[in-house]
Amino acid sequence: MIRVGINGYGTIGKRVADAVRAQPDMEVVGVAKTRPNFEAQSAVDKGFDLYAAIEERKPRFAEAGIDLAGDVEELVEASDIVVDACPSGIGADNAGMYREYDTPALLQGGEDAEVVDSSFNARSNFDTVEGDDLVRVVSCNTTGLSRLIAPLQEEYGIEKVRTTLVRRGGDPAQSDRGPINDILPNPVSLPSHHGPDVNTIFPELRIDTLGLKVPATLMHMHSVNVTLESEPSAAGVRDLLESEPRMFVIPEWLGLDGAGAIKELAQDAGRPRADIWENCIWGESISVESGSSSIRADGEVVSDLYLFQAIHQESDVVPENVDAIRAVLGEADQAESITTTDGAIGLDEPLVRR
Ligand code: NAD
Repeated sequence: MIRVGINGYGTIGKRVADAVRAQPDMEVVGVAKTRPNFEAQSAVDKGFDLYAAIEERKPRFAEAGIDLAGDVEELVEASDIVVDACPSGIGADNAGMYREYDTPALLQGGEDAEVVDSSFNARSNFDTVEGDDLVRVVSCNTTGLSRLIAPLQEEYGIEKVRTTLVRRGGDPAQSDRGPINDILPNPVSLPSHHGPDVNTIFPELRIDTLGLKVPATLMHMHSVNVTLESEPSAAGVRDLLESEPRMFVIPEWLGLDGAGAIKELAQDAGRPRADIWENCIWGESISVESGSSSIRADGEVVSDLYLFQAIHQESDVVPENVDAIRAVLGEADQAESITTTDGAIGLDEPLVRR
């Protein structure tokens, strides 16, 4: 069994802990928290050993009546690998501790790419991270884009990607985030950081991204345009995407008109925390614009693919973290890991069974 420690038990950390525990080849050594709160209590209720992330705050746990199993350093030492799901920037601060105990660690998408040895997406570069000490599981948006780009590039070739990311202002429990009643170009300068981030997975890809923030908490929405180096039919692209793991191509008859309805479906389907680990692509949005105007001077035929996809920011990186554990430790190949991960958490059960 691979012994996994989770440092940072918030939105991502608690989901990764559950997903790791569900794997047949992994066990959770424990989770580290900075303070006693509802999430600390929930970790205890689930039977996870709780470790103190900050020495001076240990008395607070005792005051709240929560038992600790030890300090975070002990968790790191006892683990074969640590998933660091601390807030952006803290993962980089923790890197020295992981090095000190010679424990490989996964950081999350909020960390700078320069901090780590490599960036990871299971569909796109599973085979490249084995043996690395510090690996970054890329952000929710970059994960969603990478899953889409990989099959399109392999099947059709990509000349350029242009994507507008309409991003949720905060997660549902983040009452301090916004905007509350506005639509923000964010960042207002181009490109947004998402394009360069996708380049950490696809270094040669030409990609421009624009970002906005809106008063929503449920999901991100991507408006995607990919100039392909061939001229497939929209039906062909749809078949390709439907054959991909972690991809939910929404049939028109479901009547899912937005993120709210998708979340409702996830609840009805009994998904834990109403999580949607897959990219959600509206089938009828998949369009290919081609024709004589798309023949380049050199005779090369290109076409423009358009689609909308929704990304559940709180959960799409969760199966990626599980795969990254096996990839870094060299414990499984890509197909084996994805199949095992998805089977264990129920991601192989489609949201709609037909
Ligand atoms: P979060 O704030 O929900 O959870 C972070 C947890 O870490 C909190 O419980 C916090 O108390 C704890 N923490 C703070 N300092 C700590 C320390 N020194 N040691 C241990 N624990 C500490 O944050 P999150 O949304 O889970 O994000 C974690 C990482 O995942 C970030 O890099 C973020 O960018 C990335 N990420 C977030 C999302 C998302 O939508 N929430 C999606 C993908 C990636």
